[in-house]
Amino acid sequence: MLASKLYAPTLREVPADADVVSQQLMLRAGFIRKTASGLYSFLPLGWRSIKKIEAIVREEMDRANAQEIMMPILQPAEIWKESGRWKAYGAEMMRIHDRHENEYCLGPTHEEMITTLVKNEINSYRQLPVNLYQIQSKFRDERRPRYGLMRSREFIMKDAYSFDIDEKGLDESYKSMYDAYMNIFNRCGLTFRPVEADSGAIGGSGTHEFMAIADAGEADIVYCTACDYAANIEIGKPGVMKQDEEAYKDLETVDTPHASTIEAVADMLNLPLEKTIKAVVFSIDGKVVLAIVRGDHEVNEIAVQHAVLGTVEPEMATPEELEKAGLTAGFISPVGLHQSDDFAIVVDESVMETYNVCGGANKKDAHYININPKRDFDVDDIIIAPIRLITDDDVCPCCGGTLEHAKGIEVGQVFKLGTKYSEALQATFLDQNGRPNPMVMGCYGIGVSRTLAAAIEQYHDENGIIWPRAIAPFETVIVPINAKDSVLMEASQRIYDALHQADVDVLLDDRKDRAGVKFKDADLIGYPLRITVSKSTVENDEVEIQIRKSGETITCAIGMVTSKVT
Ligand code: ATP
Ligand code: MG
Ligand code: MG
Ligand code: MG
Repeated sequence: MLASKLYAPTLREVPADADVVSQQLMLRAGFIRKTASGLYSFLPLGWRSIKKIEAIVREEMDRANAQEIMMPILQPAEIWKESGRWKAYGAEMMRIHDRHENEYCLGPTHEEMITTLVKNEINSYRQLPVNLYQIQSKFRDERRPRYGLMRSREFIMKDAYSFDIDEKGLDESYKSMYDAYMNIFNRCGLTFRPVEADSGAIGGSGTHEFMAIADAGEADIVYCTACDYAANIEIGKPGVMKQDEEAYKDLETVDTPHASTIEAVADMLNLPLEKTIKAVVFSIDGKVVLAIVRGDHEVNEIAVQHAVLGTVEPEMATPEELEKAGLTAGFISPVGLHQSDDFAIVVDESVMETYNVCGGANKKDAHYININPKRDFDVDDIIIAPIRLITDDDVCPCCGGTLEHAKGIEVGQVFKLGTKYSEALQATFLDQNGRPNPMVMGCYGIGVSRTLAAAIEQYHDENGIIWPRAIAPFETVIVPINAKDSVLMEASQRIYDALHQADVDVLLDDRKDRAGVKFKDADLIGYPLRITVSKSTVENDEVEIQIRKSGETITCAIGMVTSKVT
């Protein structure tokens, strides 16, 4: 590829609304362009990197015996109604209807669709296990699309779904996906940690999130510097709460803090509350916690019920008691629920100062992974059980090592779904005894476009991107200092041909621009290697190879370039 032909319009000024480094650099370097809030076009450079990530994902999925398919993005409402998620998914689902007024959504995920797809064709244990995946655009009407590709409304996801005859089979499928994810993110060059995460609303019994460690991450995690223990602190963001009293009319409730208290708390937290229907109070390690539950998600019914059952001292719910308990400001945690904005937990300030709330970890028995009492804990235990608190000088619960706090970008998640969808959608198979059983499912997602952004968040400097080689748009750029000099161009062309032959992804910067301009662009775009072809070196039949990451430069005989670069 010649740079003179490459469509990579660079920008001098960073658009004011570009709120993270990855977005700024991708815009400046001509990788992406924004169409509207949360909607992006990939230009050739960006798309080349996406395709490289996809290729790695495909290789590792195939190696793990998953098979690629492609399902429609447009999904009929019926299957979502059958699973109960048409309502439960809430405002994040993009809904449309056709000219006959039939309802559809643009797939935010595909559990319903895949279960419907396989249920008619898989009917015997002999056909299982099966693992199917696709790489496709997903749609989520995020409350606050931001951070460029990291939280967009249309994004590229790899989603895989496994079907097994029993839990043991699921464990194996899960393990093989977990291992594939380790390989994928390692091969992409990311610094990441797998973290056991909460599986509240999806109804699974086990799940890990893969967190790329970067300051721009929205998740708070702790990890051990001595062993591979890592935990998700899961601090969510405040959100709008809507009223849906109908959904709660049969629930057993306690009288909750007076509206004025809730409003005061909401005000402090800057929650744009319309009306809050329920709030419950319980305590964690003796500290008072107020939970505000929003009413437009079905899953919250469970949460409300459980939280209410777990309410320890109803009298704590009076404004006076709250005041006495010093309930002032706080942070919000999505613990136990799918959406971070469904469930708000307000902790009094003293807790905030001393503790971080840990909602999950990647080692068994070293943590509490959920806040769905009754399902995960005895109701009597709820007072202390739901959340494990980690103090700043806490040590690793596994090995006693030092814990490091970090921000994480969720680039992938693996999930044991169990039979939730196969039961709801009647996806059964006949076992060895001829008896019908629901298939045991798992689902596995990777944010392909988010992974691209995460890599830039991890690897950049003031001059631009520093690509891990495996996902760089080009592995090497050849820069002849003066494109009008035929000697330099000939040498460059020779190197280009040799690298091309050797399957190196190479770009020749044949533009007539000054060397300084080309160097700047090379740094900004972030090619891992730059081969500089100048008069003084070519005279000795040599060129300079510069490594973007370290800035190190080596001189190399032209005949040796290919072996050096490959
Ligand atoms: P988040 O917690 O960041 O909202 P999620 O848990 O809702 O993500 P999943 O349902 O687990 O996301 O989807 C699988 C993967 O898709 C995520 O791990 C993430 O990498 C990616 N993803 C999810 N939402 C977005 C988005 N709005 N923009 C880009 N990638 C996304
Ligand atoms: Mg989400
Ligand atoms: Mg998440
Ligand atoms: Mg997730």
